Amino acid sequence: MSTEIAAELKVAMQALKQYGGLDPTKNKAAIRGVGKVMGSEFAKWMIANSSPQSPGVDSCESRLVVTGLSSFWKDNGIGEMKVVEEEPLTIGIEGCHDCLGWMTGVGVPVCPFKEGFLEAVFDGVLNSKHSVEETECCGTLSPSCKFKVTEG
Ligand SMILES: [Zn+2]
Ligand SMILES: [Zn+2]
Repeated sequence: MSTEIAAELKVAMQALKQYGGLDPTKNKAAIRGVGKVMGSEFAKWMIANSSPQSPGVDSCESRLVVTGLSSFWKDNGIGEMKVVEEEPLTIGIEGCHDCLGWMTGVGVPVCPFKEGFLEAVFDGVLNSKHSVEETECCGTLSPSCKFKVTEG
């Protein structure tokens, strides 16, 4: 199941990057929307497959989401994901599966899919509203894509 979801994610990421290309305005909202659909499916999968959490970690729930995502990303060769800043929570992804080959530096972030995906995963797993914004990107010649996660 894990590999099935990973295969679907990889196909979606690459197909949408091909489709949206380096024009960040082209169908950005729609691509972000596809990310959200896949993210909410992924959240369900994550909840169904998560091991019981130890008590007392409630305050770090969002960190647990990143930990879960991060090991999935690594296991499936989609990239290295980690927390790069605590306040506000910022997730960095290096070696993005969908950025490879697109690092020509268009000067603006080009990953609406991952934005929507992460947002839906946080919403779904933590059962509260989040908003995710890409602040740095392989498309801005940054060595990694960075996503700021805010609640509400
Ligand atoms: Zn990016
Ligand atoms: Zn990237």
